Amino acid sequence: MTRDQLLELIQEHGAPGYRAGQIAEWLYKHHARLALEMVNLPKDLRERLAPQVTVDSVRPEEAGHSGDGTRKYVWPAFGGDIYESALIPDGKRLTLCVSSQAGCRIGCKFCLTARKGLKQSLSTAEILSQFANTPERDAITHFVYMGMGEPLDNIDAVLDSLRVLTSSWGYGFSPRRVTVSTVGLLPQFERLLDETEVNVALSLHAARREVRLPLVPSENQHPAKSLVGILRDRAELELPPFTGTGRRRLSFEITMLKGVNDSIAEAAAVRDLISGIPARVNLIPWNSFPGTSFEPSPRHSILDYQSVLKRAGIMTTIRESRGEDIGAACGLLAGVSHRHNQSATRSSSCGIYSAV
Ligand code: SAH
Repeated sequence: MTRDQLLELIQEHGAPGYRAGQIAEWLYKHHARLALEMVNLPKDLRERLAPQVTVDSVRPEEAGHSGDGTRKYVWPAFGGDIYESALIPDGKRLTLCVSSQAGCRIGCKFCLTARKGLKQSLSTAEILSQFANTPERDAITHFVYMGMGEPLDNIDAVLDSLRVLTSSWGYGFSPRRVTVSTVGLLPQFERLLDETEVNVALSLHAARREVRLPLVPSENQHPAKSLVGILRDRAELELPPFTGTGRRRLSFEITMLKGVNDSIAEAAAVRDLISGIPARVNLIPWNSFPGTSFEPSPRHSILDYQSVLKRAGIMTTIRESRGEDIGAACGLLAGVSHRHNQSATRSSSCGIYSAV
């Protein structure tokens, strides 16, 4: 619950507003499990809240531990389905990759999660549970909303989860440590920019409609041109995220598919589309799975693509794939347990998806 929701709750009991702050502190600073533990609240308020509010703890199933240190957890959703998170160590960082939905309805053609369709959107509690109930919780430093689901297709729960994560009354993480990745849906994209200060990654994949539409079906109603236009207008008007306190990091993601979107001409189209926007580009090598005709781009194509952008002064990085051997890499979260593949090697990563 956000502080406003806690306020509503305690007002029903006729308690003063500052009690909401005290409860938030118990929940998010002390990780209290029971209303009865909250000893600075009056006893009668605690006793009235206890049957009304549950602080559940859910135990995830560890569904894989990759050779590169990445772990995958599987969580039971309230509605009966499952969803997944990944924990990715990287030097001093420990990044939690969270899901916003069980499955996804956007239908990106190169993504394994898409094949599940949408099972259910997660509640704020289910999103935050991936942090609160992870055994390594206290070591987590960064968050990426890049697990299952499209965050903007579950905007209210996602925004509330971001409020709890990044507010001083909540878990208190700097919004610079949180990144939301999205295909970009209108008008939710603007709400994300207006109501948060987190980093935003836009899944572009291609600039030209005729290349993006067959990959990302939402291009039809939510074209890249309009999404990038929103960012350009803000950059020109010096509105957040480009000024002041709203100065968070923007990036464009391109999953590199051989012969589909990895040509020099495509790189030039992306360069032209995003020119003038202070943002970086992340090139993601495609993580393969069986049953598609896609192939990963060869390294030399990725490097050639990168140099077109770099020559235009656009910071462009090639993302290293993590957790591929346990199906925890980008676009491979699909509710398949890899418990029996803990010693799987990279090269065996394809075979384990046959259960999907
Ligand atoms: N729904 C959000 C989060 C998706 S996961 C979004 O679309 O942004 C984060 C990134 O991984 C997205 O850019 C997504 O397009 C990409 N991705 C999906 N499947 C992939 C795969 N098999 N290999 C590499 N990247 C993939």
